Amino acid sequence: MITTVNPATGESIETYEVLDANGIDRKLELAIRTYRDWRGSRLDQRTQLLGALADVYENRLEELARQATMEMGKPISQARSEVEKCASLFRYFAKAGPEMLEPRRWELSDGGHAEGRWLPQGPVLAVMPWNFPFWQVARFLAPTIMAGNVGVLKHASIVQGTAKLIEEMMLEAGAPEGLFQNLCVSSDPINDVIADTRIVAATLTGSEGAGSAVAAQAGKHLKKTVMELGGSDPFIVMPSADIEQAVEDAVFARIQNNGQSCICGKRTIVHADIYDNFAGRFIDALKAVEPGDPMDDDTRLGPLSSVDQRDTVIEQVAAAKKDGATLLFGGEKLDRPGAWMTTGLLTDVEIGSETGTDEIFGPVGQLYKAKDIDHAIAIANAIPFGLGSAVWTNDADERERFASEIEAGMTTFNAVNGSKVEAPFGGIKRSGYGRELAEFGLHEFMNLKTIVYP
Ligand code: NDP
Repeated sequence: MITTVNPATGESIETYEVLDANGIDRKLELAIRTYRDWRGSRLDQRTQLLGALADVYENRLEELARQATMEMGKPISQARSEVEKCASLFRYFAKAGPEMLEPRRWELSDGGHAEGRWLPQGPVLAVMPWNFPFWQVARFLAPTIMAGNVGVLKHASIVQGTAKLIEEMMLEAGAPEGLFQNLCVSSDPINDVIADTRIVAATLTGSEGAGSAVAAQAGKHLKKTVMELGGSDPFIVMPSADIEQAVEDAVFARIQNNGQSCICGKRTIVHADIYDNFAGRFIDALKAVEPGDPMDDDTRLGPLSSVDQRDTVIEQVAAAKKDGATLLFGGEKLDRPGAWMTTGLLTDVEIGSETGTDEIFGPVGQLYKAKDIDHAIAIANAIPFGLGSAVWTNDADERERFASEIEAGMTTFNAVNGSKVEAPFGGIKRSGYGRELAEFGLHEFMNLKTIVYP
């Protein structure tokens, strides 16, 4: 049994029966049978399904948003935006997907030509986290439908209600049964699922530990994987920036999704010339964020996703202090039922220390002073991760340097960094490999078949 818990109250929501080996086997059998039909589906059948799915998400927006907020605590306004973003993604793939699948042609030097055709490969396993419980799955689901593959989901245990809704909405949109199925399981049987010959590949979003376990098992069975893992993104502010806007966005970057986003500014790095001006405002603004009921429209910070997750962050703050960092304020447990804590901010974090290189998945920031652009880039890159980055500058030469020298899968200028429906998404270093979204994400689990016409 898996029991979900509302992190705002500590109360149980619902209990789900986990699938046993026979239940998993039945779902995998249905997946492979459905694939044998679905791989031959016309492109317009796939785009129609994506359009219908977008309608279902939009029609059920409020219900879906409340489900995510109830299970993992994100502020309801952000849960609504997440559901809307899923619908936009389905519509985007419905419109742009067919062109991404157009065959390629190469002229051959020995005469004739070769054609590259994008073909599906089979059932793909998606191991997904709780932090964006609809969006992370949508990022996998849209290209799965467009590719002619089928999907099997192992969602995070704490969002099983959301997982069930995603499965249900596929059927409501008219998908064949088996095109997308939720396996209600813990991570225990996942090694067997990966080893199963009916599964052709796996994708995972989550921690390094989970990523490494899934990638190792998939490697053993020679199955391709895409990994979207953690990050400790830099948020850099240079002297030419609009300071007021940068402060507002630096705060949002740290509290968005209650501080639990893989791709948000976790380390704020400020040029020495503007440091005092920026730091004073940033400290005041972050300190002023009050945790509140996540179901309230005006709440900016809710509880963390679980008591375990909150306690991990509290332990990281304690370890940071031992490590020599200064806790300027906050970062404290709130004495009430649920997974509550306050915002907090660390300074004097030593570059390369455990605190400086760890991902803090909660509303506790780190503030650094950089003496010049070289120093800012050096701090930004002094982590094992390379997911996203945001830089505030209006200087064209500086932009060029940041765009080419920050070691990350993404750099955004003068805004909070976040995934875009139309653009590729993914990381380097220990943030993972492969790409989601756009044609690169669509092609990850497809067979680019070369057909030679002499
Ligand atoms: P996990 O990485 O453990 O969970 C993500 C998914 O992986 C869940 O579905 C989980 O299942 C599953 N999983 C975990 N271990 C295994 C395994 N050995 N084999 C197969 N599947 C597995 O994240 P946590 O919830 O434990 O969060 C821990 C940390 O991970 C956070 O503090 C944060 O640093 C990072 N994280 C990063 C995310 C990102 O977006 N990059 C998202 C979530 C977490 P189950 O829930 O049943 O354990």
